[in-house]
Amino acid sequence: MSNSTLENNLKAATLPKSALRNAGLLDSETAQKEISTRMSKKLYGFSRKQLPPGIPSEPRVWLFSVSEYGETISLGAGFGETWEIKPCPEGKDYGPACGVKPIYFQEEVVVDKTEHTPFTDVQIVECLMKQGAGLNASLDRRRVGWFVSYENPPRPEAVAEAKRIYSAECKRLVEEGNKKSRSGKKEDFDEINEENRRAAKFLKQNVDWDKAVSKMIDCPRCGEPVKEGIVVHAVSSCGHVFQLLPYWVSLVQSGQKVITDAPEAIQERLVKELKR
Ligand SMILES: [Zn+2]
Repeated sequence: MSNSTLENNLKAATLPKSALRNAGLLDSETAQKEISTRMSKKLYGFSRKQLPPGIPSEPRVWLFSVSEYGETISLGAGFGETWEIKPCPEGKDYGPACGVKPIYFQEEVVVDKTEHTPFTDVQIVECLMKQGAGLNASLDRRRVGWFVSYENPPRPEAVAEAKRIYSAECKRLVEEGNKKSRSGKKEDFDEINEENRRAAKFLKQNVDWDKAVSKMIDCPRCGEPVKEGIVVHAVSSCGHVFQLLPYWVSLVQSGQKVITDAPEAIQERLVKELKR
């Protein structure tokens, strides 16, 4: 500390405020206020730390999708970029590569300047693929058809392995879709989602729930929601017949009923229909 600073500090600690102002000095209380005001101003105009030039940017690892599922992922504004895993085009084995650079720096504001936290490609890949310690296996992005390759283009074995994992998941999703469709409950049917439909398409499975959700109407007898266009509300608690003619055609054709069991009003039409 210089002699003049020592002298000023002594004055600031001992002289009254007015005398300090005349001497062009601040008392300790005002000085503290000044400093904190200047700090908070700096929060709005914080200074950014610069990264050194020449940081390696050539990817050593790539992400691909074997499914028609793609996504643009942000890991936070501090990265200043996003990663785009593109869907696999129809008829191809895998989609375009998403390169992951060797190192990334997440920029964070610390008081009045920014700090950079480094992340390696391995760490970024773990985040994008939702793999690694502490992460639920059900989130693993291999289950939507994505895979990691340290080569571009990827080895055929890596593609085959990705397809094997995704196919297994698709089988589960198709079974889930079938179960929800079979239950006959509207809330189950509504739960069939894009994932289930993608899975059916990937496995080239013919299912009756792979199109957009059917329109539901209320059953006039029991009030339960039912799919529009059904012949009969085939539950033990109801049995309402929506389409009398197709219903009786089926009963007579299968031998469960005879023509004369049908309501008289439709018997004539029933005979005609059965002769076709
Ligand atoms: Zn009903």
